[in-house]
Amino acid sequence: MKTAKKNFTEQLRQNTAQEGVEHQLTEKECSKCKKVKDRCEFYNSKRTRSGLQSQCKECKRSKLANEKASIPDGLFKCSRCDQIKEVNLDNLHKDRIGKSNKMLMCKVCRTKRSYETSDKLAQKERHKKWRAINKDKIARYKKNYVSNNRDKIASKDKEYRSKSEVKLKRREYEREYYKNNREKMIAISCAYDSRVRKARPAWQEQKYINEYYKNAKSLGFEVDHIVPIKSKLVCGLHCIDNFQMLTRKENASKGNRFWPDMP
Ligand SMILES: [Zn+2]
Ligand SMILES: [Zn+2]
Repeated sequence: MKTAKKNFTEQLRQNTAQEGVEHQLTEKECSKCKKVKDRCEFYNSKRTRSGLQSQCKECKRSKLANEKASIPDGLFKCSRCDQIKEVNLDNLHKDRIGKSNKMLMCKVCRTKRSYETSDKLAQKERHKKWRAINKDKIARYKKNYVSNNRDKIASKDKEYRSKSEVKLKRREYEREYYKNNREKMIAISCAYDSRVRKARPAWQEQKYINEYYKNAKSLGFEVDHIVPIKSKLVCGLHCIDNFQMLTRKENASKGNRFWPDMP
């Protein structure tokens, strides 16, 4: 619909440019009052061949005044959708109310227009700038929200993570991450191995450790250090007394954050 209109206007403009005659009119007859007037007495129009509206400014103005006068108090006519609406906050933005003007743009049309004319990139830039200026404010708001809505956030998070497609995506991401960061991951794992080796006391023979690991594996468990080998607070030993068998899931959820008698 819109493009059709645009094409029509474009076509008209081209025709006008080709003929180029009427565009040079210095005088024109008003279709309403039939007076011949100078072209500055007419408003411009993109849609006519002459580039001018058919009625003169005076006639246009009086038409508008009549229209306005016919609208009762408490109502207005939208200059875009032409609907007569009630003056209230549902139909108008706050800054428009209280003006005597009866040709206003209704809320719906104004939102539509601002959406159509908005420059998405400029808007993005503005938001970015605003965020940079109000960094502290945003941080404070977030902190406040998190501390006031802990349970809500936790349950939502759990719900989200339990979705099968999310799980799948996550697994894929982890696989991809490992592939792209192989060296790093191997380094981490080597560092862990060396920490583990260092944590083995001299009296604990390696062969018993190996046996314990083998047993755990055959039973489908993972070996966990009851007191973590490395955390910020404690250093457990790599010995059988400090071992426990956990399922993969239990082990993953434990991390190095919990141990008996932890402070
Ligand atoms: Zn006129
Ligand atoms: Zn409207």
